[in-house]
Amino acid sequence: MANLRFGCVAGRAVLVCDSLKSFVDVEKFSAGKLPSDPMACIERWAEVAALAKTLPAVESVEMSALDLTQLDCPVPRPRQIFAVGVNYKAHAAEMKHGLPKEPLVFTKFPSSLNRPFGAIQLVGEKCDYEAELVAVIAIGGRDISAKNAWSHVAGLCVGQDFSDRELQYANTPPQFSLGKSRAGFTTIGPYLTDAATLDSRTNLEMTCRVSGEIMQHTQTDDMIFEIPDIIAYLSGICELFAGDLIYTGTPSGVGAGRTPPRFLRRGDIVETTVQNLGTIRNTCV
Ligand code: ZN
Repeated sequence: MANLRFGCVAGRAVLVCDSLKSFVDVEKFSAGKLPSDPMACIERWAEVAALAKTLPAVESVEMSALDLTQLDCPVPRPRQIFAVGVNYKAHAAEMKHGLPKEPLVFTKFPSSLNRPFGAIQLVGEKCDYEAELVAVIAIGGRDISAKNAWSHVAGLCVGQDFSDRELQYANTPPQFSLGKSRAGFTTIGPYLTDAATLDSRTNLEMTCRVSGEIMQHTQTDDMIFEIPDIIAYLSGICELFAGDLIYTGTPSGVGAGRTPPRFLRRGDIVETTVQNLGTIRNTCV
């Protein structure tokens, strides 16, 4: 079965074909039954999934040619962006944190969203990279059980949680949300892959390269709290909404955890890949 890959081109919802070289416009391909706004489509995820099943296996005249760098942020206006800190065992060790007993949650503000291939405007001398697996909510609610959590997820995508460590650690105790919310510091994409059509959603290979050098490499099963646990925890406190993003934490190898530290420099290219979910690429300026 073809994977459902949901993206955004020129502000309109699209389905990216298996070849990754073409797409169809959701509104046009559904003959106007589904909207063009990506956020409105995520609220109607089951209908989008049904539409994706009708995509022809071979390229057809209805399809438009795609260069992946054309893709915009697939979830442009989430109401909430949650992020979990210290959620990989190896990363907890490098940052000299103990293992958390409950998810350590902070927010990235939606005004920091960027395109999957957008430029990162560095600020100061201590900007850092954090490769992450990101879950997108399709059906919101409160008190969602871990057992039912996957049925509330639209899909998964690749994320970068760019972080200004200087701002994050400016005080004691440190604060996370502002240091992770500078303009353009939240990149996701390149498209959203339907969680229901993935062969594996709990053990994916994730890699972050900075200017060609592998800096982070993990399997996502090194996570301390898995996606269903995080959804159950969050929804027990906050109402979740369709389109909300959940950054699930970064593995070891961040710049601040290295000796000597390796912070981002102008001209660096940060390339983040998750198995079966694609690659996003951000150039530091
Ligand atoms: Zn992070």
